[in-house]
Amino acid sequence: HQTDSQAGAAVKAADRAHVFHSWSAQELIDPLAVAGAEGSYFWDYDGNRYLDFASGLVYTNIGYQHPKVVAAIQEQAATLATFAPAFAVEARSEAARLIAEHTPGDLDKIFFTNGGADAIEHALRMARIHTGRPKVLSAYRSYHGGTQQAVNVTGDPRRWPSDTGTAGVVHFWAPYLYRSRFYAETEQQECERALEHLETTIAFEGPGTIAAIVLETIPGTAGIMVPPHGYLAGVRELCDKYGIVFVLDEVMAGFGRTGEWFAADLFEVTPDLMTFAKGVNSGYVPLGGVAISGKIAETFGKRPYPGGLTYSGHPLACAAAVATINVMAEEGVVANASVVGAQVIEPGLRELAARHPSVGDVRGVGMFWALELVKNRETREPLVPYNAAGEANAPMAAFAAAAKANGLWPFVNMNRTHVVPPCTITEAEAKEGLAALDTALSVADEYTA
Ligand code: PLP
Repeated sequence: HQTDSQAGAAVKAADRAHVFHSWSAQELIDPLAVAGAEGSYFWDYDGNRYLDFASGLVYTNIGYQHPKVVAAIQEQAATLATFAPAFAVEARSEAARLIAEHTPGDLDKIFFTNGGADAIEHALRMARIHTGRPKVLSAYRSYHGGTQQAVNVTGDPRRWPSDTGTAGVVHFWAPYLYRSRFYAETEQQECERALEHLETTIAFEGPGTIAAIVLETIPGTAGIMVPPHGYLAGVRELCDKYGIVFVLDEVMAGFGRTGEWFAADLFEVTPDLMTFAKGVNSGYVPLGGVAISGKIAETFGKRPYPGGLTYSGHPLACAAAVATINVMAEEGVVANASVVGAQVIEPGLRELAARHPSVGDVRGVGMFWALELVKNRETREPLVPYNAAGEANAPMAAFAAAAKANGLWPFVNMNRTHVVPPCTITEAEAKEGLAALDTALSVADEYTA
């Protein structure tokens, strides 16, 4: 690719002058100017190419610039670039039909939003109106989005500055055997004790006050803690027992990420509401939504649903979703995530863990993996403290810098790196990424004791 450092400098200068970035101290960031992207790679203006092991923000499940999806967006733009949400529009109808075809159980009605956070907002509103109850239970170590309600159900430090305390949210602990809150030593103990803890939380909060339990099917940004088999089925039972709406957030885990269309398929559970975004169209145009079960759809059969968006089911976003879902089916993208995950990524990560003392835990499934980095494998002390910033975060910063220097763009959150490349990744690309990870982990090893 041609380099043009001057053009890159201009892009960067305008960014620094005028773009206000998410989650950042504006004067302390140094965003890379990106010149282009294709498949699993992107590149800057200086000729550096990166293998994207983060899939952007874990959303480019089909990789960058898939020609069929780009063409579908162009075609839709030429035919009908936009149309108001109250009308029946071909791209919107077809996207909803295709999504409903893949969602589990009777999640057959689709409410479209602009992204994941507003999908959570609407799912919780539906649950509250459906039950007539005020509260929502959600997990610590979770992320559900940046809007007010979504950030209040979030269980990570991004909630703290916006915690209203009036959002009717109660947090509980979900299973996480590596750092068990329940003194568990086996997956089965963790599962049973986490369910007991949840049922006690329900009892003490008052079952009649709880509208919804919301969980990421597999918590993503918080650490890819694959729940023990039986946990989500147990939550389903508790929801049925107490008349609580079960909301699964599949914004990150959905659309192939786990090697299934939805992570719920891995555990054979059907929630009452399921949120999605990201992979639905690989983020080529912003889109999210809520898949709605028959009984909740019925609540709004004769009574209006009090919510909406100007761009609900935007034709460009929906055309991108139709093309993405069709590409995923035609090109076996979901199976690829499963096969390359099981045959290359998982054994590769376990082999790295065996050689690098900084790797405390390897966990995941499909194209959804976390390496938890530790100072000491015995004590499991994290390589950096929870929510570390600045100097305290230096070991993770050094790890990330080493990965980038080796042509790998890593996903880093606290003391973890997540291996979450596009679901279309080839075996050769996966191996290339693992080799770069190997070098970067040697840097992390220097901080172990
Ligand atoms: N839910 C989950 C599980 C997510 O991972 C995210 C984003 O990372 C969201 C919700 C919020 O989605 P968005 O950023 O599109 O609002």
